Amino acid sequence: MQRRDLLKLGLLGAVSTKASAMEQTALTGLVLDPGFAEHHIMPQHPESPARYERLRDEIEVSELLSKVTLLTPKRDIESELLLVHSATHIASIKRHDPAAHQAAVLATGGVLVAVDSVCNGLLDNAFCASRPPGHHATNTGKEEGFCYYNHIAIAARYAQKRYGLKRILIVDWDYHHGNGTEWAFYHDASVLFFSTHDAEAYPGTGSPEKTGTGEGRGFNINVHLPCGSGDKDIVAAFEDKLIPAVASFKPELILISAGFDSREDDLLGCHKITDQGFIQLTEIMLRLAKQYCDGKLISVLEGGYNLTGNAKASVAHLATLLKII
Ligand SMILES: [Zn+2]
Repeated sequence: MQRRDLLKLGLLGAVSTKASAMEQTALTGLVLDPGFAEHHIMPQHPESPARYERLRDEIEVSELLSKVTLLTPKRDIESELLLVHSATHIASIKRHDPAAHQAAVLATGGVLVAVDSVCNGLLDNAFCASRPPGHHATNTGKEEGFCYYNHIAIAARYAQKRYGLKRILIVDWDYHHGNGTEWAFYHDASVLFFSTHDAEAYPGTGSPEKTGTGEGRGFNINVHLPCGSGDKDIVAAFEDKLIPAVASFKPELILISAGFDSREDDLLGCHKITDQGFIQLTEIMLRLAKQYCDGKLISVLEGGYNLTGNAKASVAHLATLLKII
């Protein structure tokens, strides 16, 4: 069923109908779930439930809730975890930290419902305000950089399998290198991975010399942005390195690992990206999505440890996805 048919039937709700009528706005999904606040590595750890709570509060204050379509994470998605992770890894996480397993599965389920909604044409784009993050997760059987399951990598594999997509772009603007995502697609020409990060920070990977191997050669783009890098530096990286690569790759879907620990005043990062900078990056991504894949874009929260900063940057990003700023 096409989106306009659903609109006619009122299945997308009055808010979405209004958004569709005002053509300058987008049909944007937002994944929220109280379960995202149910896991904490240890007391005082910066990857805390408060990250979700503060972000949810900021979204409420911003009045964006009335403009988005709320999405609930898909349940029973453990078989989808196997698209990226080994059964041994999953069993180990489940055994050592059942609460982390549950929260991380919920976060993966959030990205998967977003993939379904966007790939079925019900929504233009979506933001997953989920935690724990995922882009450091590989198959070690334990937590890596606060991550357990690689939501964005699973989403890409799921979109390929379920919707037959041949070319998917993943962009990662977290302060840290998305080593788990690089690992998942390093040999693979069907996923173009572009990451800006401080290569001297955790996990110590992300050298620009790492461009992929075998068929995947040329499909892994790492950009090192040293401590102190700001809006001009990251926008230049997107304009000079991402846009030309995307022009030849021509993605059918765009996924963003939206980490806001690259924002100014983060507790763990030392980049200086402002909220205006994230708005610019989001606008670049929306333009690319419009140009190559009918606007299809899904974004998932990764890091961001200054509670207020993470919330404000996320809201600026979400408002830009809605095209209301
Ligand atoms: Zn990070």
